[in-house]
Amino acid sequence: MRGRGDRLEKLLGERELDRMLVTDLVNVRYLTGFTGTNGACVCAPGLRLFFTDFRYTERAASEVEGWEPITVEGDWLASIAERLEGKVGFEDDHMSVRSLEKLKEKLGEGVEAVAAGGTVERLRRVKDDEELAAIEAASKLADAVWEWSVERGFAGRTERDVARAAEARIRELGGDPSFPAIVAAGPNGALPHAEPGEREIGRGELIVFDMGAMLDGYCSDGTRTYASGDPGEEGREVYGVVLEAQLAALEAVKAGAKGEDVDAVARKVIDAAGYGKRFGHGLGHGVGLEVHEAPRLSPRADDVLEPGEVVTVEPGIYLPGRLGVRIEDFVVVTEDGYRNLSALPKDLQIVE
Ligand code: ZN
Ligand code: ZN
Repeated sequence: MRGRGDRLEKLLGERELDRMLVTDLVNVRYLTGFTGTNGACVCAPGLRLFFTDFRYTERAASEVEGWEPITVEGDWLASIAERLEGKVGFEDDHMSVRSLEKLKEKLGEGVEAVAAGGTVERLRRVKDDEELAAIEAASKLADAVWEWSVERGFAGRTERDVARAAEARIRELGGDPSFPAIVAAGPNGALPHAEPGEREIGRGELIVFDMGAMLDGYCSDGTRTYASGDPGEEGREVYGVVLEAQLAALEAVKAGAKGEDVDAVARKVIDAAGYGKRFGHGLGHGVGLEVHEAPRLSPRADDVLEPGEVVTVEPGIYLPGRLGVRIEDFVVVTEDGYRNLSALPKDLQIVE
């Protein structure tokens, strides 16, 4: 966590804030290392305060480094408000209206609360080595679970059985699922966020299998589409178009590229093949402590990629009532390209 407070301090200067109050627990964890369920922190030049309550005093002592620990005994917001001065950024995208009202009541004279949501998320976009190591480990674990799932086969099993078995395997290997696994076969594959159901997977169906593992708080996210036997001409064609779009978009990933431009590369390939209306979601998103975070790769995303960001590239085509295909890798953005964290093959795998 060292250095993250310093990066935040620098950003406060740029945004003309005197102090920043961080209340979102994921952001608190990112800055301080604290993994409990009640904590907040205040950052200002030369000032690093971490607040928690008596239940977490000991945990804070072992996890939090470089922030002065304060165990709040009385009123939570009042104790924090005492340490706020000048223009104070707060996380308007995470704080409830009620908490904000209460906080404002307790602020001293001349102290102004300024909406500053997204400030810590901005820092979180670029991963340091420690974070990249955790993300890579999560990715390796997930890859092992795909391989294990493929060995067990798909045809004749229910979507739910495949999904639950994969999640259990992630736990056996020491991780947690970073989100409920999606296994959507045949016509269900056309629903990008289908919940795995009791439908038995037949032969010759395309199976969208989207999952991720979480290790040390960091997530992975990936999708492969398998076929339980020859998926027919339409299935093969759609798979080929998605793969072409995915490979083309990957080549557009590099520092300095704009989210909307990378998205457009994939969309162009899919449009040209006549499936433009069947790719109804953005191309990708950042991954880190949360499975969906900044930056975005989508139409109208003006995020400019930076080295060290981790993003997914996941085009898909969904034909209602028939089939769906999505291929998702997640990659580290580098100065002149990317490093792929997903090592699974991408040619159509027939798995019966
Ligand atoms: Zn994703
Ligand atoms: Zn995914």
